[in-house]
Amino acid sequence: MNIHEYQAKEVLSSFGIPVPRGRVALTADQVERTAREMGGRCVVKAQIYAGGRGKAGGVRLADNPEKALEAGKDLFGRVLITPQTGPEGLVVRRLLVEEAVEIGKEFYLSITLDRNTSRYCIIASAEGGMDIEELAAKSPEKIRMLPIDPFVGLRSYEARKVALGLGLQGRICEDCVRLMLNLYRCCMEKDCSLVEINPLVVTRAGWLLAMDAKINFDDNAIFRHQDYPEMLDYTQMDPLEITASEFDLSYIKLKGNIGCMVNGAGLAMATLDMLKEYGGEPANFLDVGGGASKERVAEAFKIILQDSDVKGVFVNIFGGIMRCDVIAQGIIDAASEVGCTLPIVVRMDGTLVEEGRRLLLESGLDVQYTDYLGDGVEKIVKMLQES
Ligand code: ADP
Ligand code: MG
Repeated sequence: MNIHEYQAKEVLSSFGIPVPRGRVALTADQVERTAREMGGRCVVKAQIYAGGRGKAGGVRLADNPEKALEAGKDLFGRVLITPQTGPEGLVVRRLLVEEAVEIGKEFYLSITLDRNTSRYCIIASAEGGMDIEELAAKSPEKIRMLPIDPFVGLRSYEARKVALGLGLQGRICEDCVRLMLNLYRCCMEKDCSLVEINPLVVTRAGWLLAMDAKINFDDNAIFRHQDYPEMLDYTQMDPLEITASEFDLSYIKLKGNIGCMVNGAGLAMATLDMLKEYGGEPANFLDVGGGASKERVAEAFKIILQDSDVKGVFVNIFGGIMRCDVIAQGIIDAASEVGCTLPIVVRMDGTLVEEGRRLLLESGLDVQYTDYLGDGVEKIVKMLQES
């Protein structure tokens, strides 16, 4: 789960991590007023669920409240396209107005889950800022990684080693050690899968400050934090993904034209791999889960069909806990409700599979049925290539 920079800074601040003074604005008028409170000079920052805003013109330095107002008027409603948004971009509806900081040096610092070691891992670089992706590609040796032992946690001496590696000394080095220990505490207590400060700056006056902040919460831990759902900004999310989450379905939009409905995340991944292998392009990842009801299957199917890129649907279900006749009825209900005329290929096996097959074949839908995965994948890919 994503949150905005201004919210991430509130979280960091509550863990004792220093951030610039700032406030979120929802209108250009509020931008001007906040700029005045900041003392005139300020930075106006587009709040979208993506980074790379600086290079896309989403971070503006304003010398006075009038300039801030101008930046506000220009940014509200603008679609920002950055390397992280995809080609359609994201609309700016909130702005963070922040004190303009005199930057001495910019660093990169984050804590994220490293899937190789199954541990939180500190990532740090003395060359932080807007070119970190380029640095990672061209000079990966300039980025340091330190896995954190989950049993003993992050130790001061380890954090100190990282801070010294960044070239920090004396008081600032100790400030950075404290900041890292707080960042780790934040990760643990808030169940973050990523906390990223880029740039972490040392100001000209010699203070350490988190100038940008990105936090991802682990979706599987949301139930432990009642305040998380209300932090979401639905305007920044794909409408189909929002509907899917309401029905507890894991749905992720992809770029292709074959809608996919599968039960089980592993089987879903394998199905996408198979489609690619046969030259097809999946339109989505969708895991309907193990024990879904007829209604949930129907909702899942409707979500797939709402995607206008979808030109055909591939269903791959193993009915273990779920009964195949229930799945078939869900598909039929959804398809007739929305008047689906797209070709559907179903590969299904398991409990009451004969009944499921009979229902599908007698439904009047454009359904092809198969017992084999490879066969089904080949069918749907060929059908869409020919059409
Ligand atoms: P993004 O990572 O999306 O490009 P950032 O928040 O990192 O956005 O801002 C981009 C750059 O703008 C930063 O690297 C920093 O140099 C500058 N910047 C951001 N906030 C401030 C601020 N409050 N004062 C001065 N410069 C800032
Ligand atoms: Mg940044």
